[in-house]
Amino acid sequence: MLKRYLMVGTFILSGLAASSGFAQDYDLVITGGRVMDPETLFDDIANVGIKDGRIVAISKDALTGAETVDATGHIVAPGFIDTHFHFQAPIGYRLGLRDGLTSSMDFEMGCAGSYVAAWYEARAGVTQANYGCAVSHEFARAMFIDGSDGGDYLINGPIAAYETRKKTGWSVTRPTLEQGNAILEEIDRGLQAGAPGIGSTVGYMRDGVSSREMFEVQKVGARYGRATGAHTRYTLGTDTTENNGAQELVANALALGAPAIVLHFNNPGWRLAHQMIIGLQEQGHNIWGEIYPYAAGSTTINASFLEPKSWIDEMGKRYEDTMLDPVTGEYYTLETYKATVASEPTRPIVIFKMPAEDQAKWLTLKGVTMASDAVGAEPYLGPWDFPLDQVGGTHPRTAGSRGATIRLGRENNIPMMQLMSILSYNAAKHLGDTGLKFMQERGRIQTGMVADIVVFDPELFTDNSTYEKGAIPSTGMKAVIVNGVVTVSDDKVLPVFAGQPIRFEPEDKPRFEPISEAAWNAEFSTGMPDVTAAFPEKVGN
Ligand SMILES: [Zn+2]
Repeated sequence: MLKRYLMVGTFILSGLAASSGFAQDYDLVITGGRVMDPETLFDDIANVGIKDGRIVAISKDALTGAETVDATGHIVAPGFIDTHFHFQAPIGYRLGLRDGLTSSMDFEMGCAGSYVAAWYEARAGVTQANYGCAVSHEFARAMFIDGSDGGDYLINGPIAAYETRKKTGWSVTRPTLEQGNAILEEIDRGLQAGAPGIGSTVGYMRDGVSSREMFEVQKVGARYGRATGAHTRYTLGTDTTENNGAQELVANALALGAPAIVLHFNNPGWRLAHQMIIGLQEQGHNIWGEIYPYAAGSTTINASFLEPKSWIDEMGKRYEDTMLDPVTGEYYTLETYKATVASEPTRPIVIFKMPAEDQAKWLTLKGVTMASDAVGAEPYLGPWDFPLDQVGGTHPRTAGSRGATIRLGRENNIPMMQLMSILSYNAAKHLGDTGLKFMQERGRIQTGMVADIVVFDPELFTDNSTYEKGAIPSTGMKAVIVNGVVTVSDDKVLPVFAGQPIRFEPEDKPRFEPISEAAWNAEFSTGMPDVTAAFPEKVGN
C-alpha cells in the first residue's frame, strides 16, 4: 500500500529525503504516526514531511525538518471539515480547533449576499482556522420583506440572526414578484462574491416560502453549479414529513442538475433519507447528507415548529421533557415557554428529539458528513483568547462534536477510517466536485495536498462539553496543523492565524435572471394565456 502511495507523487521527494538527510528538508515533520487517508484508504505507520504549507513526503524513511511533531501512538489524519458551523467568530474557531476542526463553513444560515465580500475581508489574516460562508436565503428575505438591512449586524454573518429574527416577515410572508426577484438577486450577489453555495432555513419559513420560491433559490445556485444546503421544510417533523422535506430539496436539485446538502437529517425517518441520498450518489448525483451525534438539537425559542399546535398537538411532546435552557439549566413549561417567546423570542434553547441510542448509529452511515451545527455562545464576538470557562451556555455540539464522534466510535467499535471519512474527506470530496479548488486539495493525506492535519490519541481524544456545560473544549489533540502551521499543540491553541478563505473566485458579472410571466410562458408553454410564473404562484394554480 505504501509503495503504491509513493508512486503517486512522492517518488522523487522521498528519495531525496532518504539520501540527503539535511535538517531543513522540510518545514515540519510528523513522525511515527498511524497515517490515514480516507480517499485512498492508505493506513500505515509513516512519517509525513511538510514544506510551504503542503504535504510533500509520506515515507517509511526517516525525515527531518525545522520542526517535528512526534506522533508515535497517534492518528495522523486530514484536518476535520464542517459544512454546518454557525459560530463563525474567534471563540468559535478556537473551540473548533480544540476539536480538530481546520475548515468550517455555514451552509444553513449563511451570510447576507451583499455582505459576503466584507465578511471574508474581515477575517483575512486574523483567523486561526479556514472559514467560509454560504449566501443566506433567510437574510435575503429579512432584508426585502422586513427591511432588516443593518450593516452593523449583517456583517457578522450567521450571528446576525439573533437580530433579524426579532421580526417575523422573513418566516411567514409570501413575497410579491418584485420582492421575490430582489431576494433571488441578493442571493446571486453572494455567489458572485464567491460564496461556496447557498444556505436555506426553509424549515423555519414553511408558511412564507412557496415550493416555487425554493425551486427558484436553488436555480440561482444551479447557474453557478454550487450546492444549496437546507434545513429542510418539515424539520422537525415526523418520519414522513421529514423525508418529504428532504425530497423537495433533492427533487429540485435533480431537475436543476445542481448539487445539494440535506442538512442534519438525524431526525425521524433518517434511514430512508440516507437510503435515498445513497441511491442518488450511485447514479452520479452530487447530493449528500449531514448528521451530528446528539439526540438534542438547538434553535431559538420562537421557531414555528416548537409552537404548541406543532410540538404538543402534532408531535405529542411536552416542554417539560424536551426543552432545556442551556444558560439556566432548567426545562421549560408551557407557561415559561409562552412568557419567553413574548419577552425574548430569539433566546437559544436545546430541544431533545431523538433516542440517545441512535447517536452512534448515525456515525456508521456510509457517505455522510459529520457536521456539528455549532451555535454561538456569549460573548458571540469576543476575542480568540477569551477565557473559555467564562463562555456562556450553548449546545454541547459546539465544542464537542468531533470529540464525541471519536468517543462514540471507540465505545461502539466503529472503524476509524469511517470516522475519518465522515469528519473530513466526504465533505471535501463533494464540495471539490462543485469546482471548489480549496476542497479539492484538502481532506486527504496525500503528497501535493494542503497540510491541514490532525494528530490525536485514538484512546484519549474526547469531548468534554455537556448539556449543562456546553462550551468545555475537547481534549486529547496532540497537534492541529492549519495550512502547514502548527496551531494547536498538546491541547493548547497558539497565537497563530493561518486560516484561509473557503471561497470561489469573485466574478465580474452577476448571473441573475429575473423571473417573469412572459419568460415562463415562452419557455414552458405554447402560449396558453393563463399560465403563470408569478412569485408566489397565483391562487388556484
Ligand atoms: Zn438547522
